[in-house]
Amino acid sequence: MLGEPASAQLPATGFARRARISEQCLAARGIVCRTCGGHCEPHAIGFRLLPAGRSFPLIDDTRCNACGECVRVCPAQAVSLHLIETAPA
Ligand code: SF4
Ligand code: SF4
Repeated sequence: MLGEPASAQLPATGFARRARISEQCLAARGIVCRTCGGHCEPHAIGFRLLPAGRSFPLIDDTRCNACGECVRVCPAQAVSLHLIETAPA
């Protein structure tokens, strides 16, 4: 719109840290583990079932608050926090 600052015409995007799981995850290597999910207070970690009773963690970005607890407790150092672009409001 004429007379409006350029920034006001752009969608409101931003950046935030969110947990991400690497291939180091024990579940991806045939070992049953749900340690991260049990320590995530906002319940941001769900599990996708895999064969042989295993399950792979999935992060719900809308719930993750980047507290880092999953990074701290993972026995395989498979979790890290990544900067991601958030959706427009
Ligand atoms: S705690 Fe680590 S190894 Fe265990 S399920 Fe979570 S990411 Fe995988
Ligand atoms: S960083 Fe915190 S809120 Fe996000 S998935 Fe890990 S434990 Fe849950």
